[in-house]
Amino acid sequence: MHAKPHLPEKPCLHCARPFAWRKKWARCWEEVRFCSERCKREHKSAQPSAHPSGHTNSRARSAA
Ligand SMILES: [Zn+2]
Repeated sequence: MHAKPHLPEKPCLHCARPFAWRKKWARCWEEVRFCSERCKREHKSAQPSAHPSGHTNSRARSAA
């Protein structure tokens, strides 16, 4: 009688697919917005105007 029949779900902010609660998100489920790390990264990299436009050299950082 203690088994939960249904786990909470919500749509991924990036791919819009619904994903279910996972144990690793037990502590931060409310903050989770992506179904996977991949979506998280892709969404971030796809964010427009995260930085002031003008610099197209995104790899300039690696140069010391
Ligand atoms: Zn996703």
